[in-house]
Amino acid sequence: MTKRISIDGLVIWETKTSDADKVITVLTGNGVISCYARGSLKPGGKLTSPCDLLSFSNFELYSGKNMYTVVDAKSNIKFNALSIDIERYSLAVYFCELIRFLAPVDDYAGEYLGLMLNSLHLLNEGKKDLMIVKAVFELRMMTLCGYMPDLDGCNRCGVALSPEICFDFIAGNWYCRNCINSAGLSANCSSSVLLAMKHIVEEDASKIFSFSLPEDKLRVLNKITSDFVETQSDRKFRTLEYFRSISKDGYFVEES
Ligand SMILES: [Zn+2]
Repeated sequence: MTKRISIDGLVIWETKTSDADKVITVLTGNGVISCYARGSLKPGGKLTSPCDLLSFSNFELYSGKNMYTVVDAKSNIKFNALSIDIERYSLAVYFCELIRFLAPVDDYAGEYLGLMLNSLHLLNEGKKDLMIVKAVFELRMMTLCGYMPDLDGCNRCGVALSPEICFDFIAGNWYCRNCINSAGLSANCSSSVLLAMKHIVEEDASKIFSFSLPEDKLRVLNKITSDFVETQSDRKFRTLEYFRSISKDGYFVEES
């Protein structure tokens, strides 16, 4: 017997199945689901706008064997400003790919949804530095899905902070200046970048975007958070490559 449910969710992916129809991937508070949305590619159709990529909508669904079918949908939030800014839009699409790959399918995902909606809101508003939104999303996302780095002290001697730091992307911990030197490693960030990472990992969700760093340090932070995502997930994200290719900021300038 088919069951009808009503649920709020964000459209994070779409796969066209015919000229008029597509399958949408939706992030809900109960995990990521797939839904067949008949007629959602028809211009002016009742499902068209609420089933758009990056629409946060209320969905009326029938559950089927392999996926849901959208019966009705209404938009709750549209992040319209994103569609006219290719840089912000492509960053949002990268966030969608990360969510699609890393968020739970059949489990509580309220924190993922909250992080995604807050990040999209900031991108849509356009006031927050993109480098802050990107670094916070990446590192907090990794923390949520079980790859929380251990930033409490040098992994070798335990010292709490150091002017020069080597963050280990594989182990998710770090070494201080003294231990870097004796181990023959090289520094890849500094104390201010480490403190920003601690802030992102440890603060309450409502405060994670509230910090500032000079631009050169933000670039270093962004390189670290992207490299950490790619190392831990053992995957290259083509949407991240695209964002890098069109980004106005120099995301990959090394700290001097
Ligand atoms: Zn040390």
